[in-house]
Amino acid sequence: MRFLIVDDSSTMRRIIINTLNKLGHKDCYEAANGREGLERLAAATVDMIITDWNMPEMTGVEFIRAVRASESTRGLPVLMVTTNAAQDDIVEAMRAGVNNYVVKPFTPDTIREKIESALEG
Ligand SMILES: [Mg+2]
Repeated sequence: MRFLIVDDSSTMRRIIINTLNKLGHKDCYEAANGREGLERLAAATVDMIITDWNMPEMTGVEFIRAVRASESTRGLPVLMVTTNAAQDDIVEAMRAGVNNYVVKPFTPDTIREKIESALEG
């Protein structure tokens, strides 16, 4: 499986990729914001997106709306990993098309469970 990790923090991208690597997923692309994420999706096929919310240029929610609006990417599972823990934010993200939601900071067990359930649903 190939993952696209979209986060403006290179440290957070590293943490998520290390977690995926430990779970046996070695094939990971990175992008620093939604616009870069869309460029990446235009150039390569991925199986799942893990995205932050708060990013410059294009936020995670704007990115997900664009992903859901495009025929080639609308079916991709999307996991949002963010510090936004308010119920209203979770509802907004789900409406934008997120399959699952992880609030930072997270444990490797949490992200593994959320990835598995996002893939199922
Ligand atoms: Mg951020």
